[in-house]
Amino acid sequence: MDKVVKVLDTTLRDGEQTPGLSLSIEQKKMIAEALDKLGVDIIEAGTAIASKGEFNAIKEISSLDLNAEICSFCRIKEIDIDAAADAGADSVFMVAPSSPIHISTKFPGKKEEDIIEMSVKAVEYAKDRGLIVEFGGEDASRANLEFIKKLYKEVLDAGADRLTYTDTVGVLTPEKCEEIMKKLKSEFKNVDIAIHCHDDFGLAVANTIFAVKGGADEVHVTINGIGERAGNAALEEVVATLELLYGIKTGIELKKIYRTSKLVEKLTGIAIPPNKAIVGENAFTHESGIHTSAILRNASSYEPISPEVVGRERHIVLGKHAGRASVEAVMRELGYKATEEQMKEILKRIKEIGDLGKTVTDADVRTIIETVLQVKREKKVILEDLSIVSGKNVMPTASVKLRINGKEIIEAAVGTGPVDAAINAIKKGVKDFADIELISYRVDAITGGTNALVDVIVQLKRGNKVVTARGARTDIVMASVEAMMEGLNMLI
Ligand SMILES: [Zn+2]
Repeated sequence: MDKVVKVLDTTLRDGEQTPGLSLSIEQKKMIAEALDKLGVDIIEAGTAIASKGEFNAIKEISSLDLNAEICSFCRIKEIDIDAAADAGADSVFMVAPSSPIHISTKFPGKKEEDIIEMSVKAVEYAKDRGLIVEFGGEDASRANLEFIKKLYKEVLDAGADRLTYTDTVGVLTPEKCEEIMKKLKSEFKNVDIAIHCHDDFGLAVANTIFAVKGGADEVHVTINGIGERAGNAALEEVVATLELLYGIKTGIELKKIYRTSKLVEKLTGIAIPPNKAIVGENAFTHESGIHTSAILRNASSYEPISPEVVGRERHIVLGKHAGRASVEAVMRELGYKATEEQMKEILKRIKEIGDLGKTVTDADVRTIIETVLQVKREKKVILEDLSIVSGKNVMPTASVKLRINGKEIIEAAVGTGPVDAAINAIKKGVKDFADIELISYRVDAITGGTNALVDVIVQLKRGNKVVTARGARTDIVMASVEAMMEGLNMLI
């Protein structure tokens, strides 16, 4: 197949309908710009009629002068169409209820013929207002297919430019999706048909792919698959599958997928599950000893694609399954050599931590190696003093005295709480020595009670290097600071 599948990204509309999520106009603009750079054809930027904020967001995104077509969601109502046109959108994704349950709930007393008549009027109105019209029947997968075809035919006659088949509640299966799309394409040959799938059964991506096999010209997706209920088909999975497994082109620049995904994660606050395909933290991370030694010899032995293809890096972590090859790789990096006996001891100690059910951090591994080899390492970053003020009606503030490469640094910072203030002060202190990013922060209380031992694990990044480090104390602030110091000492 040498056709190019169009991508409509609805992160800012369907994605933003994720329960509890609300993005500011500035955040939406940042995401729209990133989607445009990624190569998305159509950005569904919101629903102009929904609120003043949505209207303004679409208006501002439309004025960014992006390459992508800017689309607003709308119902078959003139006020919706006016709002979209007034906001400066290029197009509307116009949706009419099409299943019996949607028709009777949204337009009580109306029949299928009434829906057709209202849809035709709405399409004509939108065309008069100069909009590109992509028309979809809502809940089409639970509607009568003959009615959908009739509805499509009438709206096309009224001037609609593209069609969408929607699986609003995610009940399609891949086979059905392909079959329906084939039927629709045989009837509507010269018009682009899009597929819009929800993930209620975890089939959104598979259904979307099969729709393309059946002839769909356009896919509706969201970054990280965010969306109401179980979410939508994920852009990164659909695009990677089409491009890399089916050899079907999209306009997406694969290398920009990961950074876009991380931006959406950061701005929405919806964490990417670690095991998620393509963009999950673990998707290109290797721990198991046997796998790691094979990976070090030939990366493709346990990787379907090379991580760089989707803008990522390979990350090897030493866990309790760490094998000799991965420990040797770390030792080479540090410039250490171990005897056979020492090597056995190092591997044994690493496994011991893992067997306690604890995460083995990079700092743990380094400490074990240095303890066994009896290497005394001069710490480059030393915490000499830390004081924190926190309480009611007080802005949490921390001041630190650090010694970095022998130089004394004093810094202070505020934060949302004492931990945040302390970390901010440390980050400020090391800023002139290295550009360090705190990628993740995780807390586990090892035992119950307020006097519990708290285990903090941080992940820090400098350039291409990522390290994990732990702090374990009964004081959560000190545990966090200790983890930071351990990690910094591996990077500076
Ligand atoms: Zn939807």
